[in-house]
Amino acid sequence: MPVLVYTENAGGKFKKSIFEVVSYARAIADAQNTSLTAISIGDVSADELATLGKYGADKVLNVSNAKLKSFINQAYASVVAEAAKSEDADIVVLSNSFSGRGLAPRIGVKLDAGVADGAVSLPELSGGKFSIKKTAFSGKAFATVELTSAKKVIALTPNSYKVVDKGTSAKVEDFTVDVKESDFKAMVKEIVQSTDKVSLPDAEIVVSGGRGLKGPENWGMVEELANLLGGATACSKPVSDAGWRPHSEHVGQTGIAVSPNLYIAIGISGAIQHLAGISRSKVIVVINKDPEAPFFKVADYGIVGDAFEVVPKLIEAVKAYKA
Ligand code: FAD
Repeated sequence: MPVLVYTENAGGKFKKSIFEVVSYARAIADAQNTSLTAISIGDVSADELATLGKYGADKVLNVSNAKLKSFINQAYASVVAEAAKSEDADIVVLSNSFSGRGLAPRIGVKLDAGVADGAVSLPELSGGKFSIKKTAFSGKAFATVELTSAKKVIALTPNSYKVVDKGTSAKVEDFTVDVKESDFKAMVKEIVQSTDKVSLPDAEIVVSGGRGLKGPENWGMVEELANLLGGATACSKPVSDAGWRPHSEHVGQTGIAVSPNLYIAIGISGAIQHLAGISRSKVIVVINKDPEAPFFKVADYGIVGDAFEVVPKLIEAVKAYKA
């Protein structure tokens, strides 16, 4: 019984977090002595689909259907569940991304499976058990859950597992599913992009500002640095409460949890409620004029200095590097 991994794409391309999830699913398949089938939904080129083989997929099911052009939780969950049934897969793995968080419980219901969302480790298989460490309480704690059902759904937190390039290849097959009208109770009629900025929940680089930036008029340098790095902008809660930035950028316990490769915190103290939303970041850079700021305790790199001097220099350095 193969393991099935759902590989979401962004504009026809797979992000690094998807290669992590395929590598993770491969490790589970190896532990179960079985093969790994990937499923992709949407317009993805044959070359792009074939890259999944490098990270351990033996086979890739390609679902290309005009009705599934836009992401619809219910319909995508049905397709993945149908693929799991057709492949006889007991374990479905996906990313705990924004859409993955919507899909995992729906796939779980369709397969009558136990769900471990926010997984951060490979399953522990001792004594016939299947236990997984996962984040709890918005990343402030970890829990170990035991999946006792025959079928299992695991949503992996981005940046929790390394990408392993196995140099292998996969065969790509078309997979057709009869999508039911009942799966389209909510239809996406139009997508209006409110901004051309990178989406925060899935961003690989986040540049975030706090109250230390004094006011909304000083956000130009945060945006410039984020644009130069191809990242998203974020902020602390008091900043969005004050209306300096939109609430959609508020990161933390009561906001969005992010897990980028790089989180740059500028003028943010590092309160526990803020750290709850960023603890899965791979590399944390803190810029703060107070050497005693709590954020430095969790920083990989810390710059003690005035943001209004440090950030412009950083911008110049990135520009010089890119030139
Ligand atoms: P401050 O605490 O005011 O810190 C500003 C920092 O900027 C200081 O460290 C200062 O040294 C530095 N600074 C000042 N000037 C400069 C300069 N020129 N250059 C460089 N550094 C400078 N907060 C969140 O962010 N997210 C949440 O989800 C969240 N949820 C909460 C839930 C609850 C129930 C509660 C009670 C609080 C919550 N908070 C949350 C608020 C949290 O406790 C902190 O108050 C908040 O994170 C502080 O924001 P800040 O670091 O931007 O501001």
